[in-house]
Amino acid sequence: MDETAARSRPEQAARRNDSGHRPTDAHPIRTCVGCRRRDRQSHVMRVVARPIDGHLTAVLDERRRLSGRGAWLHPDPACMETAVKRKAFSRAFRGPVDTAEFAASFQAHLERRDGRSVPTVPPESGSAPYGNPMSTQR
Ligand SMILES: [Zn+2]
Repeated sequence: MDETAARSRPEQAARRNDSGHRPTDAHPIRTCVGCRRRDRQSHVMRVVARPIDGHLTAVLDERRRLSGRGAWLHPDPACMETAVKRKAFSRAFRGPVDTAEFAASFQAHLERRDGRSVPTVPPESGSAPYGNPMSTQR
C-alpha cells in the first residue's frame, strides 16, 4: 500500500497490483544457467542433453520440442562462456555433459539469428605474403 511511492513510468507494460491478472502467466520465467538471471522464456534458449556416443552432449533445442530436462541460456556468448566455465550444464543435467560441439552450434545459431556473418580470422598460414623472414640477417 504505497500509493505515494508509485510513480508513473513510461513503460510499455502497465504494472498493476491487482490480483487475478498476472502477465507472467503468459511469459514463463526461466533462469539462465550462465548469468543466473531470470528472464522470460522467450528471451532464453532451451538446451537439452542427449546421449550421443555413450555420453551426454548438450544440444540446442531451437524448436523447444525435445523432451527431457532442459537448461536455459541467453543467446549471449558471455552467458555461454560463463555456463561452460561453471560447468552449469553438467549441474543442470546432473551428469558430465559435453559442451564442445554445443559451443560451436551456439555460435552458428547466433550468427544466423543476427543475420550477419561474423568475420572469421583466417589461421595464419606458414607462408606470409609479406615480410620474408629470410631477408632478416643477423
Ligand atoms: Zn544469461
